[in-house]
Amino acid sequence: MHQLTLAEIARGLADKKFSSEELTKVLLARIAQLDPQLNSFISLTEDLALTQAKAADARRANGESGALLGAPIAHKDLFCTQGIRTSCGSKMLDNFKAPYDATVVAKLAAAGAVTLGKTNMDEFAMGSANESSYYGAVKNPWNLEYVPGGSSGGSAAAVAARLLPAATGTDTGGSIRQPAALTNLTGLKPTYGRVSRWGMIAYASSLDQGGPLARTAEDCAILLQGMAGFDPNDSTSIDEPVPDYSASLNGSLQGLRIGVPKEYFSAGLDPRIAELIHNSVKELEKLGAVIKEISLPNMQHAIPAYYVIAPAEASSNLSRFDGVRFGYRCENPVNLIDLYKRSRGEGFGPEVQRRIMVGAYALSAGYYDAYYLKAQKIRRLIKNDFMAAFNEVDIILGPTTPNPAWKLGAKNSDPVAAYLEDVYTITANLAGLPGLSMPAGFVDGLPVGVQLLAPYFQEGRLLNVAHQYQLNTDWHTRTPTGF
Ligand code: GLN
Repeated sequence: MHQLTLAEIARGLADKKFSSEELTKVLLARIAQLDPQLNSFISLTEDLALTQAKAADARRANGESGALLGAPIAHKDLFCTQGIRTSCGSKMLDNFKAPYDATVVAKLAAAGAVTLGKTNMDEFAMGSANESSYYGAVKNPWNLEYVPGGSSGGSAAAVAARLLPAATGTDTGGSIRQPAALTNLTGLKPTYGRVSRWGMIAYASSLDQGGPLARTAEDCAILLQGMAGFDPNDSTSIDEPVPDYSASLNGSLQGLRIGVPKEYFSAGLDPRIAELIHNSVKELEKLGAVIKEISLPNMQHAIPAYYVIAPAEASSNLSRFDGVRFGYRCENPVNLIDLYKRSRGEGFGPEVQRRIMVGAYALSAGYYDAYYLKAQKIRRLIKNDFMAAFNEVDIILGPTTPNPAWKLGAKNSDPVAAYLEDVYTITANLAGLPGLSMPAGFVDGLPVGVQLLAPYFQEGRLLNVAHQYQLNTDWHTRTPTGF
């Protein structure tokens, strides 16, 4: 039963092959048995899950239907869940029980989804390896000595190991697409403003966006349907109608113009990944797509711009964690300054502290123009590159990451080496564009992802292309040994 996709679960529940309660019990037992190897969960919510599953079964018995009604999922541990620990992977929030549900959590619960637990993540979503979590590193089910990617590494590892069919994640610079690539999943970062950020603990507010991680594009369509939509509580949420993502999965790719940026195939890319990306291009050509080489000339500036903007926003967002209002407070402070200093010094881990310092520096008087303002100008140039490219093509295709997963600990002493892994993903966040990563093959037994980018609000096009690709390839069906 644990091998079923969301789409298959919906059919099984509708045909009364099994109940949501039965399925939930099977998956909870599987998590108890296998997760100790992976560490993909921070909290399990067994009681809530069984209550939700029974309620979903009762709703179905009353004639209700819906693709998410009774479907087991999990939330990245930065989505607030009422009365349940919402840690953001940090000691700072280890004791924080959210007083309300994030909009995404509330919407999925209303659609009948069953929450099995809260997944592990890099502390405050800062990282690409899920090693900065206060709760310990997550292991990649494809090889337990390797990282699963981050920051949504717990969601990715759990879904890849078939502990559950799908989970939520967030993507500020690649944290859905990169772990999807490194664990053989399909992951979608929606257009900025498509999914509400209300109740999603902020990292870098102008870049953060929630989205689905699942094994197939078909399942990402189902989960995104439950997450997307206007939210008056989020001032950056956009009031655009949500299309039926499942209905557009079967559109023909005849004549689809795919742009392949020449800058994506530069020296930093593992040549074995380049070959797999070229194979996926050929596959899409067979389905009728037309390939065109394009250029994104400002891409080389993306990492420096991102690693100024994201820490700048983070330093501001994280100033609320002061030992007074939220979370961790140091023992016996002697005065207010001591309270601030020790609560933040003890509550935040080293990567978070590094980013706060970089961000505060970039925003300080005298440096603002030289760093933050310049980075914002680069951001506009990057967006303009994309706008020019999308005048000529419908989709942009390239690798999701320059390398496959690396060994646990391998990049710990060199934060910049880890930052460089984000080279292909962060541009979509800087421009606010939707992006998807899907399985494209293996290098030394480790999964590789191909990334698709589309114009604003064209999530349906991304899912359509990915679904057609998955009907004609079987990479996404491969299962890690032992799971
Ligand atoms: N790896 C990037 C960072 O550490 C992206 C993280 C994310 O998308 N949350 O900032």
